[in-house]
Amino acid sequence: MKHQFDAIGFDADDTLWFSEESFRKYENEFVELVTPYAPEGVNVKAALTATERANIGAYGYGVKSFGLSSIEAAISVTNGTVPTSVVQQILRGVRDHLTEPVRLFESVGEVLQMVSGNHRVILITKGDLVHQSRKVETSGLAHHFDSVEIVLEKDPHSYARVLKSLDIDPTRFCMVGNSLKSDILPILELGGFGIYVPYEIQWELDHAEHPPPPESRFVELPNLHAVAGWLATNVE
Ligand SMILES: [Mg+2]
Repeated sequence: MKHQFDAIGFDADDTLWFSEESFRKYENEFVELVTPYAPEGVNVKAALTATERANIGAYGYGVKSFGLSSIEAAISVTNGTVPTSVVQQILRGVRDHLTEPVRLFESVGEVLQMVSGNHRVILITKGDLVHQSRKVETSGLAHHFDSVEIVLEKDPHSYARVLKSLDIDPTRFCMVGNSLKSDILPILELGGFGIYVPYEIQWELDHAEHPPPPESRFVELPNLHAVAGWLATNVE
């Protein structure tokens, strides 16, 4: 029995463990902290998102970038009147966010165990090197991965570089993730296969309008258990 894929890539945030939920929590905290100092009628949340969007090129992804954008937005949206105590609370939130324990999705270890029985398993995540490395190390999952790749951006160029460095043929590679924009479409472009496992909360900046992916190289599944089952039966 020969499996269709040599290697399976897993996204991490909101594929293996909760991530966006915490960003929402600190976003809400930001709105509560800053709104009292902003002119009436100003959409504080929208100002934060716009600042994040403008800064991604300079700061990259992750909690520290979110923190810097939060402080910038707090100053600009209040015309410089935001008290230092609020800035301190935002900074405390960044620290708490960076050090909070990883919360795994249900049966992740079991699923990775099953998949790694028949395939090389690679973790491919983007964002802050320190934070992502910390999450991998403390997740208890590191031993399941043949390789852990933390990239700046999940685009065809980055994926091609990673696959080449690991000597993986893109046409025999399957990527599993919760973002069509970051996990699926770039892999399809390289000739690989994508398994989309949507998560209920999606970051606004990780959303892209997209044409329907070709069904021959794409499948949408409801959870990781279904992914393990699908891969187990997917033989040539
Ligand atoms: Mg993700």
